[in-house]
Amino acid sequence: MTLRFFVIIGTLILMCFVTSLLVSYRYFFTLPTINENIKDYQNRELLSLEIALNREFVFLKTLNYDYSVWDDSYDYMTSFNKDYIESNYVDDTFKSLKIDGVFIYDMNFKQVYAHTFDYIQEQPYELPEFDLNTHLPNRTILPYGTNTSERYGFLSTEHGPVMFASHAIQRTNKTGESVGSIVFIKKVRESQFAKMAEMAQVKLSYTLINKDSAPQRTAALSDGIQNEVIATARQRTLLDINGNPILLMNIKHHHQRIPILFDNYLIIILLMFFIVSLIGFYIVNRFFITPLINGASAINLMLLKNDLQPLHFRNQFLEMRVLINGFNSLIKEVKKQNEQLENISKIDELTQIYNRRAFEEIYTTQWQEAHRQKTTLGLMLIDVDYFKFYNDFYGHQGGDSALQAVCRALKETAQSNNGAAARYGGEEFIILFNQLSVEQFEAISQQLLLNVKALNLAHKGSKVSNVLTVSVGCAFATAKAMDNKKVTAKLLIKNADVMLYEAKNTGRNRALIKSI
Ligand code: GH3
Ligand code: MG
Ligand code: MG
Repeated sequence: MTLRFFVIIGTLILMCFVTSLLVSYRYFFTLPTINENIKDYQNRELLSLEIALNREFVFLKTLNYDYSVWDDSYDYMTSFNKDYIESNYVDDTFKSLKIDGVFIYDMNFKQVYAHTFDYIQEQPYELPEFDLNTHLPNRTILPYGTNTSERYGFLSTEHGPVMFASHAIQRTNKTGESVGSIVFIKKVRESQFAKMAEMAQVKLSYTLINKDSAPQRTAALSDGIQNEVIATARQRTLLDINGNPILLMNIKHHHQRIPILFDNYLIIILLMFFIVSLIGFYIVNRFFITPLINGASAINLMLLKNDLQPLHFRNQFLEMRVLINGFNSLIKEVKKQNEQLENISKIDELTQIYNRRAFEEIYTTQWQEAHRQKTTLGLMLIDVDYFKFYNDFYGHQGGDSALQAVCRALKETAQSNNGAAARYGGEEFIILFNQLSVEQFEAISQQLLLNVKALNLAHKGSKVSNVLTVSVGCAFATAKAMDNKKVTAKLLIKNADVMLYEAKNTGRNRALIKSI
């Protein structure tokens, strides 16, 4: 798993965790509380409507009571004196009392007086429903046979629903038996509902219910809100005095927005959290992960190329700088040690010039280079003359010292001509030159003989000189030869070997050259 992948997964898990935490909190705690409050508020709105409706009745009831518990009304029921009617129930009375009808009944439900007058339209109309001998179910409007001396409510008529209030006719001092009852009615009008809606602070409209099309299972206004969910609007019925629905109220609640799980507030909080998480990821990615990944891939590339180099990253954090500097110091140390190791593996311990393995490497690359650039190459194979005898005369250690001296001379000669000298084996050495003319090459070989001689190492065992000498076999590849595919690196060495053999056989202490 990569570090970046880990941090991305970690950030995503954190986002999911916080999101589910916030959403669950809203779902299980906040939302139910808000819903409960709204439900409570809506319940109060229904209650306010009911209170507003009751106020309408209180007015009608009070008025009706004043007329019913009055000696004049009481006397009318025995005398049926028309003066009482003419002075109390003229059309103007309806207008000033804001009522639409008056009915007086005796104790046998017989209508003894009826007067209907629409006080708004100012015209009479008929209400046969109040003839209780023909409409027996409507007898419930009169306060007979009950503990109470009043009745009120709604009644359905062909002119629409009307409100009524009735009281038993009694003497003003409430003595004596009831002799009948007076009913006041008032038509249900739009204006009345508008007033109720204003009081309850809701929007209200209503439709009348026919007996045939009575809605099923619609709660009555007095039921309040029971096990219903919160809603922006709901319907309630008004019942008449016999419990039949007569009017369907369409109530539009004050709260027109039902709270939802993902409301703006939650979305903003979640958005802010996501943005903060992304910024956090950006910072971690930019300042920690990216430098680490760059460092890791740089180190990986170095390992692949087998080329260790110091890192050149800049970082603002002390710890990261310590890491980078530590790594760079380590690389420096490893490189130093590698160089030392390489030198040890390439340099001959006794003579301190290249060993045969190192020479093979140098020869291969220089051969390829010379071959590509079509330039000359020259090889010298050097063998110490009668060295076995030298050892015999001066001991093995003396022989070693002599080899070291000879090598110093060889190295000097090689280096001053841009050549590379190596120990080829035992007391045999090899020098490689490039980009020389054959004349220059030959001159160097002669100079080499002189330089060794000039060491002036006494050699009593030598049969060619009284100082230590060498024989040299030289092979030279011209630029033309380098263009020939048949001329190989091995061939050049072989030629030098042949020339060395020749030099040995023809008297030693000499250099013989072959140019190909
Ligand atoms: P030639 O003139 O034909 O080359 O005769 P040579 O005696 O030099 O040749 P030979 O191959 O018979 O002997 C080489 C000797 O060099 C034998 C060996 O003991 C000696 N020798 C090789 N390496 C070393 C070395 O590292 N130290 C010493 N002291 N002697 C060495
Ligand atoms: Mg030899
Ligand atoms: Mg020899």
